Order: sequence, then structure tokens, then C-alpha cells
Amino acid sequence: MAAVFDKLLGQDHAIRELLAASTDARRSTRGSASIEHSAMTHAWLFTGPPGSGRSIAALCLAAALQCTSPDGPGCGHCAGCTSTLGGNHPDVRRIIPEGLSIATADMRAIVRTAARRPSVGAWHVIIIEDADRLTEGAANALLKMVEEPPSHTVFMLCAPSPDPHDIAVTLRSRCRHITLTTPSTTAIAHALEARDHLDAETAHWAAAISAGHIGRARRLATDEQARSRRATVLAMPPTLDRPAAAINAADTLLATATEDAKTLTAEIDTRETEELRTALGAGGTGKGAAGALRGSAGALKDLERKQKSRATRAIRDALDRALIDLAGYYRDALLASLGTTASPIHPDKSDDITQIARSTRPETLLNCIDAILHCRDTLATNTKPELAITAMLTTISEHMRRG
Ligand SMILES: [Zn+2]
Repeated sequence: MAAVFDKLLGQDHAIRELLAASTDARRSTRGSASIEHSAMTHAWLFTGPPGSGRSIAALCLAAALQCTSPDGPGCGHCAGCTSTLGGNHPDVRRIIPEGLSIATADMRAIVRTAARRPSVGAWHVIIIEDADRLTEGAANALLKMVEEPPSHTVFMLCAPSPDPHDIAVTLRSRCRHITLTTPSTTAIAHALEARDHLDAETAHWAAAISAGHIGRARRLATDEQARSRRATVLAMPPTLDRPAAAINAADTLLATATEDAKTLTAEIDTRETEELRTALGAGGTGKGAAGALRGSAGALKDLERKQKSRATRAIRDALDRALIDLAGYYRDALLASLGTTASPIHPDKSDDITQIARSTRPETLLNCIDAILHCRDTLATNTKPELAITAMLTTISEHMRRG
């Protein structure tokens, strides 16, 4: 059985398609069939809401394609499977944009490598995470390759949705599309219990408040500071009808997101810098070590630039997570004020939310949600986060004061 696909929580439909594709791919690499008119193809698009596991799905397909075991495709324990999942298969490249976009020059370099034959595996796999961050030039460079792919190359693109806003229509039309859905609360809770050995109560609590995002559920269940940051963000809405509340809230929101981003990047930064210093001979005391260090100032500068770009993105991502939490709060309030029984995103905040729902008109709550969604769009551009956040909270505050 294809063990690698077990990682895809609640995605039975996608699993069936990916399993069929990797089975056909295996037949074709053994020369018993062509991949034309089969379940396999050279370009894939994985879409789904954050946390649905689109990049994991791509990685699982990559593992199944590189699987060398007769138990495969996707046995989960052969060298092909484990090295792909562990991120060190020589023929699987994951492109994870660390800045706000993927530049044309980077994509040209990627495309050049993609044309090479695989070194040990059956396929050369290029996974592009956040393909919605491709610049127009980069998308065009990629399109040329996807239109006439080398017989051994597979592209896997991951994006939030198949909308033209997220992925160029021309690229999309060349890809086989896999839609991932948000896993259910129960499925997430079970996974947290089984894989992370959390007790049932914590697992269910975390699953219920993480809107189908398993990574977030795991973090909230295991990281006390992540829980407290969420609490800080969700304590904001009831204060926003007071004068001058928007400015304070903007400061708090930015500080919280910055802290959140730091905890996620600090560890990677330290490790990278240490690895580079060791590679460059720092720490040695001989004359050779000093000479090596002088010549390496440039390499350290490059690394600093890369880390700065990653930090910028990490803060924007953290802000985005906070905005999704806030939007969920007003969405819960709106549903409560309309008297619907849909399941809430923040069940643990229902007292505050009910109170806001009682004192606020549905139109006002809808306006608040609009302001948040607009802010998310603005943050995706190069606008300074401070400006976007302050503008959003001022708008919300004005709406809330009118009631
Ligand atoms: Zn395998």
C-alpha cells in the first residue's frame, strides 16, 4: 500500500488520483507504457486553502515517483521515498520563495536545471511552492518549459487557488489540477492524538480553533507562546470601539506578528550562519583561518541579505495569520448576529463574540471583514505593513463606533 499518501489527511479523492498517476508513471519508466493518455503528466497544480497540505501532497507524489521498492509506488520506507520526504533526494528540488516573489532570473536558472536528466531517480521533479508568488516574467519562463517538457521532468506547482489572481491562466491550462480540501476537525484531532501523542482534550481543542489547518493546530497545542499570541490578537475586537484604540491595536498586532515571525526564523538563521562560518573556516586560529575569513565577507553578506528577505516575508506571513484569525472573529460575530448555527471558527471566544454580535449591525460586521480582506490584499504588495494595518484598524474602529 502507498504509505506516503497516508500523510494527506482527509484527501481521499486526491490520493486516488495521485496513486493512479504514480502507478502509470512507474509503468512508463519500465517501458511498458507511455504516459500519454495516462493518469500521469508532466505538470501538476495543487491548490487548496492554507493548511490543506498542498506542498505535502506535491512532496508525496514526488516520493511515489522516486520510489524504488516493489511495494511501491510510495512505499514510504525505501531510499527513494525517505530521501524525497527528508528533503535530500538529488532529483527533487523544492523551490520555496523566501522573498515576496520569485524573480525571472531565478526561474530561468531553475528551468535550465530542470532540463537535465535525473541523476539517480526515475524523474527530475521541481516543486514550486507558493507559485502565486511568481512574477509575470518568471511565469513566462516556466510556461515555455511546461509547454514542451523533457520526457523525464515533472513540475509541481502549489497555489492557494486556481484563480487567475493566483496562477496565470496559460500555466494553469497546462497543468493537471489537484484540489485539496480543508480536513475536518475530527480528522485533525485524530492525527494530533496518533502522530503527536497529544491527549484527546488538547487535540480536540486545538483542532477546533485552527480552522482546518493541521500545522497551526499542532503549534497551538504544543506551544504556549503561540497560544498567548492568538489570545492577544483575539482580545482586540472588543476594544476597537474606543477612541484611539486603533493606534494601540496596530502596535500590538505588529509586535505580536514580529515576535511570531522571529520564533519561526531565528533557529534557521542561527544554524545557517554557523554552518557558513564553519564552512569558511571561522573558529580556527591559524593564519589560514584568518585569510579564509577575510575572503568570505561577501558570502556572509549574501547570507544576511537572504535572511533579511526571509524575515520580511515571515513577518508578512505572521500578520496574514493574525488577519485570518481576526476575519474569523468577525465572521463568527456576523453568523451569530444573523442567528445561523454554522460552526464557529473561534468556539472558545463565543462569549465576547456573542456580545459584539448583539450590539453591532450585520452590515458593520461585514464592513469589518471587508477591511481585513482588503488589508490582506494590500500586504501582498509592497506596501509597508504598518500603513496597511493602521489603515485597517482605523476603518474597523470607525465602523464599530457607529455600531
Ligand atoms: Zn518507496
